[in-house]
Amino acid sequence: MFSLMANCCSWFKRWREPVRKVTLVMVGLDNAGKTATAKGIQGEYPEDVAPTVGFSKIDLRQGKFEVTIFDLGGGKRIRGIWKNYYAESYGVIFVVDSSDEERMEETKETMSEVLRHPRISGKPILVLANKQDKEGALGEADVIECLSLEKLVNEHKCLCQIEPCSAVLGYGKKIDKSIKKGLYWLLHIIARDFDALNERIQRDTTEQRALEEQEKRERAERVRKLREEREQREREQAELNGTSSLAELDSEPIIVNPFQPIASVILENERKLEKDKKRHSMEKDSDGCPPKHKTENEQIETQSQISDNSQKNNELGIVENYKEALTQQLENEDDTDQRSSESDNSKKKTKKLRIKRSHRVEPVNTDDSAPKSPTPPPPPPPVGWGTPKVTRLPKLEPLGETRHNDFYGKPLPPLSARQRPNSDAHDVVS
Ligand code: GDP
Repeated sequence: MFSLMANCCSWFKRWREPVRKVTLVMVGLDNAGKTATAKGIQGEYPEDVAPTVGFSKIDLRQGKFEVTIFDLGGGKRIRGIWKNYYAESYGVIFVVDSSDEERMEETKETMSEVLRHPRISGKPILVLANKQDKEGALGEADVIECLSLEKLVNEHKCLCQIEPCSAVLGYGKKIDKSIKKGLYWLLHIIARDFDALNERIQRDTTEQRALEEQEKRERAERVRKLREEREQREREQAELNGTSSLAELDSEPIIVNPFQPIASVILENERKLEKDKKRHSMEKDSDGCPPKHKTENEQIETQSQISDNSQKNNELGIVENYKEALTQQLENEDDTDQRSSESDNSKKKTKKLRIKRSHRVEPVNTDDSAPKSPTPPPPPPPVGWGTPKVTRLPKLEPLGETRHNDFYGKPLPPLSARQRPNSDAHDVVS
């Protein structure tokens, strides 16, 4: 009767207990069976597990506990993140691959590191000696020995329970009883010392958050400083560049712009055209050709056309002036150099030359070079890279007495008497 009453009291007490939120960390080497265990507890088939990248989180309800388990990846490089979850953990589930004897030393070192951590020491630890279904798997006693478990837990004042199990035997309600038993044990210990543990966890969590905030601020400060330094460097560099470019500008000699404004060029050419027109009309008047009023009209018309197509006319005017000058020059040359040869051949050559040279680019300031009189001075020869000066070239001499008329339309001389190109006779410089 007394025991029945005691049982009723404890049940009532438990029923009145508030729901407790508990966080656990599940750690161990990679391939130990952590994810398989977590899935099994959650009620999922533990065979379809993918390797954990980072961590996964599972939530379950166990009696009055709302349990959150962080399944942390066990790869060597990822183990560093485990400590970030220690502060909020009420207890640890450490999974061991009992069939992998070769990695027992590594497992021992890893476990030692975990228990040594100030945010873990003193908290309860459940060791799951997993993969017991595998042949040759170490038994409970061997695992305890291999890991020097007793020594470790005593050193770090951790309450410990070891459960030999197999995560792939079943899942959900049919999960390996050892796992279920181990989980009950852990939650029971946590429940027993809940207030003390909870206080520690609140304190540790606050400290950790403060630390994280500080680290975040420090990181932000470092980034800000680095950015400021970089910006300062860029400003200094820009200033330096600015000064040097100014200095360069100062040291450069002042070069007069060879290109005059287009408006002034247009005006100049218009004036020139007008002058030419006037001169022509005066000449015609003196010859007694067209009446004066007609010439004026023509001039007005011409001027209006000029103002309409000023740019085009200017360009054309310049070219025309230059053509005239060039023609005069060439004609003079022809007269002086080839007065004796009055053949059509020389005329053809002159025409060809005229056409070729009329494509030359006109200098902007044509005042000096443009013809002002019917016999203008010759324009300077074109100057360009690699163009030899005409005056330096030896004057070409006519080839003996051979003239175009001498052989044009006449039969060729006999082959023996004909001069062959590239022959000795041809190459000889007389
Ligand atoms: P984790 O890296 O610790 O998360 O290990 P996993 O849970 O991913 O398991 C690694 C491999 O071991 C998977 O192929 C699982 O199917 C397998 N495994 C996990 N637990 C057991 C077990 O108890 N017995 C056997 N035979 N294989 C298991």
